[in-house]
Amino acid sequence: MILKRFLAIFCAFAVLLGGCGKDDSAPENPEDASSVSESEESVPEESEQESSDESSKEEPEISGDTSSAGGESSGDGASSGEESTPVPEQPKSPPRVSLSNRIIELGEVLVLHISNVESSEVVADTDLPHNSLFYPDGDGLTVLLPISYNEAPGNYTLSIQARDKTFDYTIMVVDREFEVQNLTISEDTVGATDTAEANQEWEQKIEPLKMLASPDKYWEGPFMQPVQGEITTEFGSIRYTNGSASSTRHSGIDIAAAQGTSIAAANNGKILFADFLQLTGNTVVIDHGFGLKSFYYHMDSLNVKEGDMVQTGDIVGTVGSTGYSTGPHLHYSLLVNNVFINPWTAFEHGI
Ligand SMILES: [Zn+2]
Repeated sequence: MILKRFLAIFCAFAVLLGGCGKDDSAPENPEDASSVSESEESVPEESEQESSDESSKEEPEISGDTSSAGGESSGDGASSGEESTPVPEQPKSPPRVSLSNRIIELGEVLVLHISNVESSEVVADTDLPHNSLFYPDGDGLTVLLPISYNEAPGNYTLSIQARDKTFDYTIMVVDREFEVQNLTISEDTVGATDTAEANQEWEQKIEPLKMLASPDKYWEGPFMQPVQGEITTEFGSIRYTNGSASSTRHSGIDIAAAQGTSIAAANNGKILFADFLQLTGNTVVIDHGFGLKSFYYHMDSLNVKEGDMVQTGDIVGTVGSTGYSTGPHLHYSLLVNNVFINPWTAFEHGI
């Protein structure tokens, strides 16, 4: 039901942006075919006679123009001014669904693409918790469904109604191991950076950015590890700090490197945030589109500003130890909406 609701909301916005199903704002993604591990085709290929949304979208206008301009109809010449030659409706290509996984580990992201449809032709429902939206993408729509590392393993349902076709899936979410870490950090650092004021600043400036999502797909191909170095804390680690009985989760990866080492943008995108925060020091947030964003913390210096467009490999700053940090390193994390996902999958395979 949530997906239905957000789909409706998206369509409302899409009208303002130029219409649901318009795909000229979303660049072609040559990775789509190779990134799909399972797909379902509901209708034999020989029935496909149209290859683009645009030709399908234009049908009503073509028909309407012809009937209102009898003198220009291209029939056998026998039609009078009061008759119009009916134009046979062009059959649309059948909807097709591509799903990246049916078995997926905690912390990964499910990529769902529906071909040959417009936003108004799709209703989807799932019991996977999410805040995801469909976006026009190439020949159809794409949605990213992140699986939180806090999600309960088990079977979930995903149902898609695309025009007159129904696609039902069972998604198996499976557990994986996360490392347990005991961290010691000086009370001076804690007192200076992990304060109520610092957390409030974070809540006010960063939390609202998590739910922003560009309808433009900026990223392409695998993500680039922003800096090389020893991985000192892994994604999703369960962390106990200074002997505390309660734990926190580590939302990204920590990469130790010498102070001043250049940090690269992991993929193409738009700078959503570039500023100093008490908790995370010099911080950059890049919007890669469709709800996908990358976060860079604790930098020594910043090399970008809000609103800049960056390409994969562009330098966004340098390694430092600003904010809540024990030594020079980059904390890098990747989110879909407000859910952190495993960066290693993005580095090795792309999204
Ligand atoms: Zn970290």
